[in-house]
Amino acid sequence: MVYIFIILLVLVFLVWSAADIASGVYVKTFCGIKECDEKVVSLTFDDGPEPVTTEKVLEVLKKYDVKATFFCIGKKIEPNCEVFKHIITFGHTLGNHSFHHNDNFSLLLPSRMRDEIGRCQTEIKKYAGYEPRFFRPPLGVTNPMLAIALRSFRFDIIGWNVRPFDTSAKNAEEVSRRVISKIRPGSVVLLHDRMPHTPEALETILDWLYANGYRVVPLEEMMSRQRKN
Ligand SMILES: [Zn+2]
Repeated sequence: MVYIFIILLVLVFLVWSAADIASGVYVKTFCGIKECDEKVVSLTFDDGPEPVTTEKVLEVLKKYDVKATFFCIGKKIEPNCEVFKHIITFGHTLGNHSFHHNDNFSLLLPSRMRDEIGRCQTEIKKYAGYEPRFFRPPLGVTNPMLAIALRSFRFDIIGWNVRPFDTSAKNAEEVSRRVISKIRPGSVVLLHDRMPHTPEALETILDWLYANGYRVVPLEEMMSRQRKN
C-alpha cells in the first residue's frame, strides 16, 4: 500500500514538473514577476505567423502602440513571410517555438529536439537577419531531454503566468474575461495569434489594461525589471 502511494506521488511529481512550465525543475524559465511594484504586463503570441489573424493582431497592437513577442513556428515562416516581415517592421520581438511544433515534441530525443530548435533559428535568421534570444517549448512542456537539447543554445526560456486557454475558448469574450481575471503587475500573458478570437479579445484586454493603469512593456524590459528586484 505504501509503495503504491509513493509511486503515485512520484508520478504526480513527474507529470507536474513536465507539464507546468513554471515548475523550473528541468529548465529555468521566466514566467513573469511574482512581486512587481509597478503595473506592467508583457504580451506574447504563439503559433504564428498566420496570414489573416496575425495581421489583425498586428493592427490592434499598432492602434494601441504596444510591443509584444511572437513565438513563431519555423515551418510557417516561409509561406507567410510577408506577415512575418510585418512583425519585424512593427518593432515586435521574435521568439523560437520549434520548426514543426509537433504534439510529440516532448517525446523526442535531445538530438531531434536540437534539430527542431536549430531549424527554426535558421529560418528566423533567414528572414529577420538575426537569431532570437527567446525560446518557448511547444505546449510549454519541459523535461530532461529538452534541458540537454537547450545546452547547445543560449536562450532565455519563456513561460507565462496568465493562460486563458484561448485555443479552446468559445468566443473572444471568454478569452478576455479569463485574461483580465488573472492579470497582476508583472504578468506575462500567453495568447495565440492563430486563433480567430484573438484580435477582438486583445482589444478588450488592452482597453481594460489602460483603464486600470497598466502599461504593456516588451519582454526584454520585464526581464530586466526582475534582475533589478
Ligand atoms: Zn504553441
